[in-house]
Amino acid sequence: MIIVMKPGSSKGELDHVIKTVEGMGLKAVLLHGTERDVVACLGDKRDIAKDFWNALPGVENAVPILSPYKMASREVRPATSQVRIGPQFALGGKTIGVIAGPCAVENKEQLLSIARGVKGHGAVALRGGAFKPRTSPYSFQGLEEEGLKYLAETREETGLPVVTEVLSPEHVEMVAKYVDVLQIGTRNMGNFVLLKAVGEQPKPVILKRGMSATLDEFLLAAEYILSSGNSNVILCERGIRTFENHTRFTLSLSAVPQLKSLTHLPVIVDPSHGTGKRHLVSPMSKGAVAVGADGLLIEVHMDPEEALVDGAQTLTTGDFGTLMKELKPVAEAVGRDI
Ligand code: PEP
Ligand code: MN
Repeated sequence: MIIVMKPGSSKGELDHVIKTVEGMGLKAVLLHGTERDVVACLGDKRDIAKDFWNALPGVENAVPILSPYKMASREVRPATSQVRIGPQFALGGKTIGVIAGPCAVENKEQLLSIARGVKGHGAVALRGGAFKPRTSPYSFQGLEEEGLKYLAETREETGLPVVTEVLSPEHVEMVAKYVDVLQIGTRNMGNFVLLKAVGEQPKPVILKRGMSATLDEFLLAAEYILSSGNSNVILCERGIRTFENHTRFTLSLSAVPQLKSLTHLPVIVDPSHGTGKRHLVSPMSKGAVAVGADGLLIEVHMDPEEALVDGAQTLTTGDFGTLMKELKPVAEAVGRDI
């Protein structure tokens, strides 16, 4: 149930509604709106009559939410939510945001040079991994806190907000201290302890789709973050496992308009991990924009052949610049800017 308060209802009326919800053993999550506040009642009980809530002072309307992902559902918010990823830019508006950077932070010079390159071509944020979830324990695992420091220093020098993956609940506080946006990778989409931990802090979260997750499972993972108190969630389609072996994963572009019909959360696409092949990044980026993605996450390195991680799917800064120019008319054709 979502309880919509009347415009101008008092704090006392709102507190009374919240107390009543909690008194029934449900969790009340307050969503502040520009015109009216909304209280989402979360829990297993579904049998409290709508009329009961409508009779409470200050309540305009109580709306049953049928979807299992109550807070992520478009039933709750008909307009796409805008999630701010730095002082200058919010994902989910008319302008498509491109986040770019190396798979892994390798050293300070590498990061700064890539950051300057992608910023010059119009990226809205820099992404680089400091904790890397590698398939093999013998592969480079990331610079960890030293990498986080380089990310923060690079933000100071370039003004670009920085994004990085967090792998475990114990690291959430430290990672959030250094970066602007936390990323939950595909391998952790179903790590509910980690989802709750990023939900209990306020920085925005890019949640990647689990490589074997259905869209319902993906949205319920987002619901863990939202229901823990953080409404700044961005969904990322990054490819799923299928029988196809010409690409690293199968990038599901139909997921984008389908997700956008189900949820108000912004949706971005990662064509780098989704394909694993550099020559597919540009066509799939254009496809993603054409089907309504709010943003892209693209791996870029000044010398992909020398990249410590994921070089085969990584663009040079020059290729990235060309792609950004080519995306402009595609964005305009679907009523967006880039
Ligand atoms: C990444 O973005 O660097 C990454 C490891 O992505 P994914 O979790 O989608 O594999
Ligand atoms: Mn990568």
